[in-house]
Amino acid sequence: KGRQSSDAQITPMMRQYLEIREHYADYLLFYRMGDFYELFFEDARTASRELEITLTSRNKNEENPVPMCGVPVKAAEIYLGRLIEKGYKVAICEQTEDPAAAKGLVKREVVRVVTPGMVLNSDLLDARTNNFIVSILAQGSRWGLSCLDLSTGAFRVTESGDAHVLLEEIRRIAPSEILMPAAARTGDDYEIFRTSFEQSVTTWVDDGACEYKPARQRLIRQFQTRSLEGFGCEGLQAGIGAAGALLFYVQETQKQQIAHLSGLETYFLDQYLQIDDVSCRNLELLANLRDSTRKATLLSVLDFTVTAMGGRLIKHWVRYPLLGVGDMGARHEAVDQLAECSMERKAIRASLKSVADLERLGSKIVMGQANARDLVALRRSIEALPEIHGHLAGFSTDLLCPDTSILPELTGLGQIIAAAVVDDPPPVVNEGGMIRTGYDDNLDELIAIARDGKSFLAELEAREKQTTGIQTLKVRYNKVFGYYIEVSKNQADTVPAHYVRKQTLVNAERYITDELKSFEAKVLGAQEQRASLEYEIFCKLRDTVARTHKSVAAAAAFVAQIDVLSGLAEAAVQNRYVRPAINEQGVIDIAEGRHPVVEKLIEAERFVPNSLRMDNRENQVLIITGPNMAGKSTVLRQAALIVLMAQMGSFVPADRADIAVTDRIFTRVGALDNLSQGQSTFMVEMEETANIMNNATSRSLVIMDEIGRGTSTFDGLSIAWAVAEYLHDLEDTGVKSMFATHYHELTELHRVRRRVKNYNIAVREINDEIIFLHQLAEGGTNRSYGIEVARLAGMPEKVVERAKKVLENVEKQGHVLGREAAAPARRTRVQQRYVQLPLFQGPEQDVLERLRQAEVEHLTPMDAMNLLYQLRQKL
Ligand code: ADP
Repeated sequence: KGRQSSDAQITPMMRQYLEIREHYADYLLFYRMGDFYELFFEDARTASRELEITLTSRNKNEENPVPMCGVPVKAAEIYLGRLIEKGYKVAICEQTEDPAAAKGLVKREVVRVVTPGMVLNSDLLDARTNNFIVSILAQGSRWGLSCLDLSTGAFRVTESGDAHVLLEEIRRIAPSEILMPAAARTGDDYEIFRTSFEQSVTTWVDDGACEYKPARQRLIRQFQTRSLEGFGCEGLQAGIGAAGALLFYVQETQKQQIAHLSGLETYFLDQYLQIDDVSCRNLELLANLRDSTRKATLLSVLDFTVTAMGGRLIKHWVRYPLLGVGDMGARHEAVDQLAECSMERKAIRASLKSVADLERLGSKIVMGQANARDLVALRRSIEALPEIHGHLAGFSTDLLCPDTSILPELTGLGQIIAAAVVDDPPPVVNEGGMIRTGYDDNLDELIAIARDGKSFLAELEAREKQTTGIQTLKVRYNKVFGYYIEVSKNQADTVPAHYVRKQTLVNAERYITDELKSFEAKVLGAQEQRASLEYEIFCKLRDTVARTHKSVAAAAAFVAQIDVLSGLAEAAVQNRYVRPAINEQGVIDIAEGRHPVVEKLIEAERFVPNSLRMDNRENQVLIITGPNMAGKSTVLRQAALIVLMAQMGSFVPADRADIAVTDRIFTRVGALDNLSQGQSTFMVEMEETANIMNNATSRSLVIMDEIGRGTSTFDGLSIAWAVAEYLHDLEDTGVKSMFATHYHELTELHRVRRRVKNYNIAVREINDEIIFLHQLAEGGTNRSYGIEVARLAGMPEKVVERAKKVLENVEKQGHVLGREAAAPARRTRVQQRYVQLPLFQGPEQDVLERLRQAEVEHLTPMDAMNLLYQLRQKL
């Protein structure tokens, strides 16, 4: 009842507002009222808080005033941007009829919604990062995934049978928004996504939009094809559902042309080297661990691209390294040729600098959001293309051969734009000033009237001065009064009678005359007509340009690729990289390899290169020991990075490298390195390790840095030992793995496992001090040098000396206190454990070895008894 009475009180406008509001529950509603977008109720509170604008209220004097705040329409984009950056979604509700003509309440409608995944305004986008929205869909036992960057038109689809794999893929895409069917709000199968992406912007789309048949139909209609065969995804029912849902969402929310979505790229996750999100961060591929910027990352040493498209593509290459030997070879060949020919390379890179972001320009043009400046940028880019093609003429490899068939159309387009649009047009499209004189007769005439008006005014002023004899007389213009004649106060009484007074100022009077009024009507009319005619011409031109979208997109793709390849060549030359050989025999053989990032950080000193060989025969599990700070992690990471670089098509930092095609790179980095994450680090460490155990194949590369460090020494050592054994034995051939460890006991593993090799990183001791040589050598160490490092770190001498003594006690006697104290009545837990040292030495070793060799299946019961007996004797 209460509701009814308040309903009766609310104004028709509020009712309209609430009706629209209901349909856009997850959005902040920008409700157009005159020159403002207003927000009400909770929206107003949120917006005033986030945008720091004043919260007022509507109907202040009533019992329940409605909270309200507003942003001026002219500045709306800026406020909108801030809200989107903070993860809000906004629905923009416009007046859809002329308020002056409306009878009663003005009609209003949501014309556009803006969400983090649906941003087109380049001010809000990072030029070198794709802005993806991802859609997922469960269908039977399959998962479909599709991602779309509306700003570039990139649209992809894939499928997987494993939700965890899909989860990893979403992390790799790093979307700004995730779309799920409404059923996923509660469905059990989606729980893992709901929890994993709790913090992300999530949008729910009608379940119906994901259904296979309508989804497929929608895609076909968009692409104007007869089937999806040509895109290679016809069989992917879940994928098509996901892609169709995405398209539905875009169509629903953008309510404008999206013709640049002209195809779908199907990919399969096993086409690429997989590096999970954790490893991506550990290896500091795109962002460093320290402050998450791109400083000191693999990307930072490889990215020499000069265009925005190239910048996005190289990130893609880093995250999606190849598996096909031929594909990698093609990229290496291109980089090789470009590295050889430095003149051409420099020329190409210079020409590329004048190419604008063709992908985003193309999308803006198709979506009717481009201004005249965008067309000029397109024209300049097109003009650079023949130049780039020219520089490439001498190259013979496929990736460097341009598709010249698109040139005539694009060149023609460039000429059309050049003929129509001035070189330096204004950013707004509705105030004129965009179109060249001579392009359109009507326009020229209007411009002439406006221009002639100026001389007419000068004439008029001179004439009036003369006839009235008033020397202070001026003809001027302002926005409020239009044209007027101004006369200073002391001469005002001499003005002729036909002057009509308009305004009185302190020192002057302002007048109008009939002549001036009619002139004004003509000029202002001409100005207005000029602006609208220019806009009309511009829109027509933009539509013409939009029709060549496919060629623009093809040029964009080619430019991006040339940019990345010539950038990789530049990196290869500047950083002294070599072309890697690729093999399918599982051999990783790196001669004098370097860490691509560390070598740059320590430029002043010299980086010590190290050679390394891994295979599935003798060098499968490498145990690398050495003191802290010796360079263990560096060696490990450098191996992983070199493999990745080779597979993405780059040259590598080494004297020579032969790289096995690797399907996955896993990393596990010591818990102490990310202590800040809290107590559960050990659990996380174990989860990550479990993931490796469960997913590594004989073609994978695993690097384990200080595994087990997060728990007590003996737990840690035991786990590390068991993990190493497991990786050694997996699928008979085992997994290529590197362990950096300070548990030197792990070096014993090679006694019981054939394919284990020990390495250590040498240090030299001079007068009780150690010098880091950073040199990897075969063989284990039996010391950890922790104490020397403590001294280096500035630990008080007293503590260092004491630590040495304790270590001596433990090593010699298995007691922390040694003979210093009376024999303890009870051993502490820690001491008991130390006594168990050393692990697997002496008789146990023999026993184990014999047990391992015994062919238990073929033993008679009597033989078995004998064996047991013998074994016991040995102990
Ligand atoms: P660890 O893992 O053994 O504790 P790191 O790999 O973290 O050691 O290396 C410690 C530091 O030593 C690095 O930050 C780097 O400055 C330096 N370093 C490592 N490897 C080399 C090398 N091969 N040549 C020169 N300096 C190196």
